Amino acid sequence: MDLLKGKRGIILGVANERSLAWGIAEKFIQEGAEVAFTYLGDAQKKRVENLLGESSAPLFPCDVSIDEDIENLAKGLEKTWPSIDFIIHSVAFTFRECLKEPFLKTSREHFMKTLDISSYSLIAVTRALSPLLNQGGSVLSLSYYGSQKVIPHYNVMGVAKSALEAITRYLAYDLGERQIKVNCISAGAIKTLSSSAIPGLSQMVESDKHPLRKSLSKEDVANSATFLVSDLNSAITGETIYVDCGANIMGYHVS
Ligand code: NAD
Repeated sequence: MDLLKGKRGIILGVANERSLAWGIAEKFIQEGAEVAFTYLGDAQKKRVENLLGESSAPLFPCDVSIDEDIENLAKGLEKTWPSIDFIIHSVAFTFRECLKEPFLKTSREHFMKTLDISSYSLIAVTRALSPLLNQGGSVLSLSYYGSQKVIPHYNVMGVAKSALEAITRYLAYDLGERQIKVNCISAGAIKTLSSSAIPGLSQMVESDKHPLRKSLSKEDVANSATFLVSDLNSAITGETIYVDCGANIMGYHVS
């Protein structure tokens, strides 16, 4: 369909073939976009290279908790391309114990690190790369419903996602003058490396409980990401858009 033909951008957060970021990358490339990637550590670099196969793409190391890495990413990207059209932030981190222990036990250190990587990094990355963003460009991140309601075990990640959604609104205001859209997809549960650490995930993905009665796939998320980054999205910004087969509209489940 070539919905993204002529657009270039960077995707942060491909860990493996299950990553939501990889689903987005595949769809964006299919729609004609040129995509650069970041990786966290050499093992992940190899995995991204393997996923890309024959097709090469610019790759940059970036630990989003390190300012110097983000600065180097901006410098490297500027040398590669004169400008970009999108930034996809598909990054989150917390400690295993934060997902297992009661929320009440969240330590200051765990709270700070979780919000630094999962929330603040959206500000830091957007600030560093925004000079490269073309008028009409897009910034997109990934959230989860645990930002709004209590999802047992999601705990401090829910707080991080609330912050991410608020950050989305404030960035949308700052960048709106340049017609840059900043949005967030609140995706339903999908089994990935990160989400597998959340106890009870298998119940959350149960497809017969969702209004659409199907399991959400990373392709579903990628389709919505494509729309939000494409020129078809001319007036949505600062929003958290649910892409979850309707799961969030349910008050209770009947079997
Ligand atoms: P994933 O494990 O494939 O991706 C998470 C990525 O975050 C990995 O690539 C990891 O390397 C990266 N990351 C962690 N710490 C980092 C750091 N310091 N610097 C740079 N990168 C770092 O898992 P995923 O499920 O694809 O997660 C992607 C995004 O989608 C996350 O924001 C997650 O919260 C969100 N999300 C996932 C689901 C789900 O059910 N899978 C649902 C809603 C939202």
